[in-house]
Amino acid sequence: MKRRAFLGAATLGVATLLGGCKRQEKLQDFSISKKRSIELKLATSWPAGFPIMGEGVEKFAKRVHEASGGEVKIKVFGKNLLVPALGVFDACSAGQIDAFHSGPYYWKGKNLAFSLFGGFPFGFTANEMNAWMEFGGGLEIWRELYARYDLYPLLGGNTDVQMGGWFKKEIKSVEDLKGLKMRIPGLGGEVMARLGVNPILLPAGEIYTALERGTIDATEWVGPALDIKMGFYKVARYYYSGFHEPGSVLELTFNLKRWQSLPKDIQALIQSCARELNALMVYDFQDKNAKALTKLRKLGVELKTWPQDVVEAAKKALFEVIEEQSRQSADFKRVWELIEPYWIQNRAWTSLGLKNYLKMRDGS
Ligand code: CA
Repeated sequence: MKRRAFLGAATLGVATLLGGCKRQEKLQDFSISKKRSIELKLATSWPAGFPIMGEGVEKFAKRVHEASGGEVKIKVFGKNLLVPALGVFDACSAGQIDAFHSGPYYWKGKNLAFSLFGGFPFGFTANEMNAWMEFGGGLEIWRELYARYDLYPLLGGNTDVQMGGWFKKEIKSVEDLKGLKMRIPGLGGEVMARLGVNPILLPAGEIYTALERGTIDATEWVGPALDIKMGFYKVARYYYSGFHEPGSVLELTFNLKRWQSLPKDIQALIQSCARELNALMVYDFQDKNAKALTKLRKLGVELKTWPQDVVEAAKKALFEVIEEQSRQSADFKRVWELIEPYWIQNRAWTSLGLKNYLKMRDGS
């Protein structure tokens, strides 16, 4: 809008100098014909209108359209409308779509290192993750590795801390986890497997029925805001705080050649709108999780934290998984070696600042 106003004013100045209404009209026509029209197809791994995550990317597309004075139109396709939910990486890599909104841990089959860009158990909080990405070299190495697939990632949101999941039976020690069938993906699933859990992957639409029928004994999903919509509280009573996804990253990834073909000002505008999406999603989760937690308490859900032996065993398992995957993949090792010192340094500050503040505020 501002660009149009500016072009209009500039045109008017030149036209006045030249002195002539007809010429002025012609020059104005010229300025209008120079308006660019850029269309981008973006597919998501979420259903159209999916709360918080899907809504977030749709707001992003609207924002880009407004901020570009209507020059950039990003058409958002929910899962399976254009490509299957987990087909977005390949479709974008091949240039069949221009961009996608998803989560990097889905692509560990392409490269084990990619799961680390999504987060890891006992890893970065949302704030620490954003710091690592923006200032600790995270985005740089992520872009280097994605370039092999002709992809260019931007940060596209964060789920903030996730809950550990819904259990039909109370977990009193690590013994109670043995043989438990649980829907849990990613590195969290690999850690739980070492504690005796049988991790199962299920599409979102099948989790509730599986839990209800006892095909699975437990499931994690995201947090109160999204979990309450899934209705898990109706079939599993115990809701555990989590360590497996402390701040999971969502990505807004572009086809690299398409990204490079965009004018520099449009790239900058998309970058800014993506940063807005990335920040707003955390605020949205904070707001909606707090409200949903109030409802879950009223519904009689039992809120639990893990027994200490589970936490200790999970930490031990995490380092075994990291060692194993570092041996399997030089890229994983390289990304982990960048993460580890940053993680240790940030934990010291988060503990001294935020954790001690929370202890004082909440008295525990
Ligand atoms: Ca999850």
